Amino acid sequence: MSDGRDDGTANRASEGRVELRGTAASPGIGIGCAYVLDRRRIHLPRREVAASDIPAEVARFHAAIDTTNAQLEAIKNRLPHGEHRQILAAQQLMLRDPDLGNSVEEAITRESISAEWAVSAVAEEIRDTLERADDVYFRERGSDITFLAERVLINLGGEAELELQPPPGSVVIAHDLSPADTAELARAQVVGIVTEVGGQTSHSAIMARSLEIPAVVGVEGLLQQIQSDDTLVVDGIEGVVVVRPAADELDRWQVANNRYEIFEDRVQREHGLPAIARDGTNVVLRANVAIDSEISSALFHGAEGIGLYRTEFAYMDRERPPTEDEHYRVAKGVLHRVAPYPAVFRTFDLGSDKPTRLFQYEEVERNPAMGLRSLRLALREREMLLCQLRGLLRAAVHGPLRIMLPLVSGVEELRAALAAIAEAKSQLAVAGMAHSTDVPIGIMVEMPSAAVMADALAKHVDFMSIGTNDLIQYTLAIDRTNDAVGYLYRPLHPALVRLIHRVSAAGKAAGIPVSVCGEMAADPRYTWVLCGLGIRELSMHPSAIPVIKNIIRGSTLSEMEALARQVLEVEEVHESEELVLEVMRSRFSEHLQHGGGYRLASERDAAGAG
Ligand code: PEP
Ligand code: MG
Repeated sequence: MSDGRDDGTANRASEGRVELRGTAASPGIGIGCAYVLDRRRIHLPRREVAASDIPAEVARFHAAIDTTNAQLEAIKNRLPHGEHRQILAAQQLMLRDPDLGNSVEEAITRESISAEWAVSAVAEEIRDTLERADDVYFRERGSDITFLAERVLINLGGEAELELQPPPGSVVIAHDLSPADTAELARAQVVGIVTEVGGQTSHSAIMARSLEIPAVVGVEGLLQQIQSDDTLVVDGIEGVVVVRPAADELDRWQVANNRYEIFEDRVQREHGLPAIARDGTNVVLRANVAIDSEISSALFHGAEGIGLYRTEFAYMDRERPPTEDEHYRVAKGVLHRVAPYPAVFRTFDLGSDKPTRLFQYEEVERNPAMGLRSLRLALREREMLLCQLRGLLRAAVHGPLRIMLPLVSGVEELRAALAAIAEAKSQLAVAGMAHSTDVPIGIMVEMPSAAVMADALAKHVDFMSIGTNDLIQYTLAIDRTNDAVGYLYRPLHPALVRLIHRVSAAGKAAGIPVSVCGEMAADPRYTWVLCGLGIRELSMHPSAIPVIKNIIRGSTLSEMEALARQVLEVEEVHESEELVLEVMRSRFSEHLQHGGGYRLASERDAAGAG
């Protein structure tokens, strides 16, 4: 019980062992000493400025924005991979938002206050608005504003930049981490990250996953329970943090960690082998990538080409769309690096959870997931689509390039997109530009309407790829960015299983390949069901490939098909989950620990009870 002191230690548990629970955000086990990140509190006396000094104050504000932007640029350029670069780029856009600049300038001028004071007042206002939003995505952007304002304030004060220098091997403990902080941590060789706030989609979680650092986020009361140098275990598989474990418990965690790492090494060693099941069935495993620099990771993990190149990332962090020549150069470079394997380029899938500033529409979208996104947006912005198509068609003379259309709703919309492809070809022909005339064209099946019409759609295309992230969102009506309904995300829902089966069968009847490229493909729990339903191509984030390959190499098609047949029979989602988990746990318990990072409802219940 608290004795009423408020010295920061009153709520701290005894010096003994404490176990804390949060959200498992990045798989793996990290054991190390706590490094508590004590964010510097910046005190701001309200300072008024004379009218004659206002222009100088405004100039000081702009100089601080430029310095902050340059710092973010430098951190971004030190990063190897794609997704986190993108996050930093989004922060740079936020920083340079003219509305933000105008509001601060206005506050300085109207109220005759210092740049520091104006920045913090405007930041607070924006944060308050964001934090009141219904959508978790916007609420999480509130913390971005805090981090940006903090950096700008430090730069206004001319103080040294906040340096994060945890000793190698530490576990970083923080209330929250900015994307820039997390990027710095990757260089510091930390072994774990635990934050008080955040969920599966928060930036620290996304960063930790792609940097392969075990992480638990959303741990309430974290900072009261831990102090620097406490020994910690971060279990990013179960979402548990053990503080000050006893020596014998620590030994057990060490053993579990060794086992985990040995397993990772073992499966990675097979990266050069094909994913062939015991009976000889071949499953092609390809990589999902967002930008060029992720291709080395794809090749390192043994991808047989790129199954989903998310080209929209090239549009998101900029003021102007890529030019035709840029599309051409990037695609040509990708083909060169993955040769002799193919690369599937998805036309830009912007909008909704992939925001862009490239278009300024009057209407505010109240429901952006069902709004002007993806192919609908591309068809409306036809010139931009034609420009991308021309670049891709030109690049296709250099290797096996494929073009994939996202979020196709049905045959009519597909025809409109195919007409755009035909037009891009004839524009190139008129201009006398070398291009390929027989690029395979495919569609993503990620709307229930497309899954139901898969047999009709299949007649017009060369391949289909099931985007389960969106197919689940639209079939089960779960906003994929809303943690509050995350528990309803159940890929084994009978409706989903039947839709996947339907698409797979339609592809088979039409004689065209069908792949799965949503997160479901990367999750070892679903490998048997997907292959058993007839899927022979899976595309996933690169680091998931070795585990999935190992499962396929240890299985036969007939056992995978038997499970799929049983799952197709059931009517309730808990039944299909039980069937699949029972088999997969008994055969591949270690593999399942290296999976998706979210739990099925039945697993959460079991963990809660335990
Ligand atoms: C999907 O929806 O499953 C998919 C692969 O596309 P994205 O996640 O980019 O929407
Ligand atoms: Mg999608």
